[in-house]
Amino acid sequence: MKGDGVAIVMLGPPGAGKGTQARKLSDSLKLPHISTGDMLRESLKNQTELGKKAQQYMNSGALVPDALVDAIVAERLDREDCSKGFILDGYPRTLAQAQALQPLLDQKHRKVLAIGIEIEDSVLVQRLSSRWSCPKCGKVYNAQLEPGKRNGRCDECFEELVQRKDDTEAVVAKRLQVYHNNTQPLIRHYQDQRAYCNVTGDQPIDRVFEDVKKLIENHK
Ligand code: AMP
Repeated sequence: MKGDGVAIVMLGPPGAGKGTQARKLSDSLKLPHISTGDMLRESLKNQTELGKKAQQYMNSGALVPDALVDAIVAERLDREDCSKGFILDGYPRTLAQAQALQPLLDQKHRKVLAIGIEIEDSVLVQRLSSRWSCPKCGKVYNAQLEPGKRNGRCDECFEELVQRKDDTEAVVAKRLQVYHNNTQPLIRHYQDQRAYCNVTGDQPIDRVFEDVKKLIENHK
């Protein structure tokens, strides 16, 4: 599979499987997986200045202000491991973020491929409320579809699985609304740049991954 030198942007609503697919791609392409949600959760856990500022937004399902997120992404993309390309998951999430990202990509002559995972809202609500993840490696499980082999523990690190605070019904509704208002317009933005392709998210993880790999192989 080709993927070198490309900035892959995973787009899609919360619960579509962006993180799961980004992790699989990262393993397969040997490119770093950069998830702003994971970076922010880590800052929150460590109660850094950024974490304290982001907390109220994250807990209510709102977006953290662009300037804060743009700064952590710019710093992250500057690291050596991004020199051959990277996979962005959860960023950009607003048009302003896409505009902040563009000059960073231009500087490095990096082309974007935005991969949208498309899926109905009704499926997402169901998925998110049964989503559990490993606090150590971030692997995601689904109590119904992908329960894991070790009854409540991560198959790989044996850590006890946890449920995200923002996966409650009320916060999920808010996150979906934020997605439709702020993030969905990015589809058009990347379509206009001829840099958007999509896969159907409502199918087994490995089938979605096959589709994602084909898109990358066909991308010139
Ligand atoms: P995620 O894990 O991508 O679903 O992100 C969890 C939460 O982190 C979101 O609901 C936002 O509060 C915050 N967040 C993550 N990425 C961004 C971003 N690019 N812009 C603003 N807020 C973000």
